[in-house]
Amino acid sequence: MKNIINVGQFSKEELLQICDAADYYKTHQSKVLIDKTVTCLFYQPSTRTFVSFIAAAQNLGANVIPIQGVEYSSVAKGESFEDTIKTLSLYSDCIVLRHPEVGAAQRAAEVSEVPIINAGDGIGEHPTQALLDLYTIRTEKKQIDGLHVAFVGDIKHSRTIHSLAKVLSLYDVKMSFVGPEELSCEKFMSEFPNSEYHEDIGAVIDKADVIYMTRVQKEYHEPNVGMKLDTFGRTKTYDYKITKELMVKAKSNMILMHPLPRLQEIPVELDKDPRSVYFKQVKNGLFVREALLLKVLGKDDE
Ligand code: ASP
Repeated sequence: MKNIINVGQFSKEELLQICDAADYYKTHQSKVLIDKTVTCLFYQPSTRTFVSFIAAAQNLGANVIPIQGVEYSSVAKGESFEDTIKTLSLYSDCIVLRHPEVGAAQRAAEVSEVPIINAGDGIGEHPTQALLDLYTIRTEKKQIDGLHVAFVGDIKHSRTIHSLAKVLSLYDVKMSFVGPEELSCEKFMSEFPNSEYHEDIGAVIDKADVIYMTRVQKEYHEPNVGMKLDTFGRTKTYDYKITKELMVKAKSNMILMHPLPRLQEIPVELDKDPRSVYFKQVKNGLFVREALLLKVLGKDDE
């Protein structure tokens, strides 16, 4: 596998292999990337994806070039995206890229001398998050087939939903999309015939096996991406959330997920609920990203 651009490129067999490899790296250490250099180039804010890729690369013995703040690079002098990628690919064996534009990872792959890993391209996809989400569901629920997964929040702009729903469509999974109508997306939801849309979380709370919360992706809610402003000219606020009361109605073995960062949609008091697995997702990201780095660098059979 040369690049990781979107989840559509993975077969079920490969997803299984990645999950098995992540399981292995949970308990084993190996410095097989000792002669490799991984560049993490982030044009958008990140905590977990940026740091876990760095930690994963270092755990495997790789050198890391971390670039988070392109305003200090020649991008600020007007250098093109393509020239930036081309240049960094001459110093690295792999580039992990986050960028605000849909399709940026594919553009990068076209000029790069080395593999590109898409760490989020605007409202497009976030494939490595989807794989760690899948891994978390598998670890917590033991199987994927037969589950009812409810995606809640900003369906339209959440790249994590876009990627995970595509991955789950390879399985026998029922999907519900839940959230304010303005944040829903008919075109996207229609890709999943076995899915339904609800405005109110109450419609799925006692049925879902997995509830996947997301924050409002405010950074994309500008008039130029089609969002309406309220009568004061401000971006509208939305206050959907999962509460203690709703958790009482949920299944006792439901799992509550979130790619993080969270805002108001999951109160801190729910962190102690054994069904809350969002910090387990954070930890799992490390093992899954180790597995993915080994895959793109051709070391996954070592
Ligand atoms: N961290 C995730 C992302 O980069 C989710 C989010 O930002 O809301 O897409």
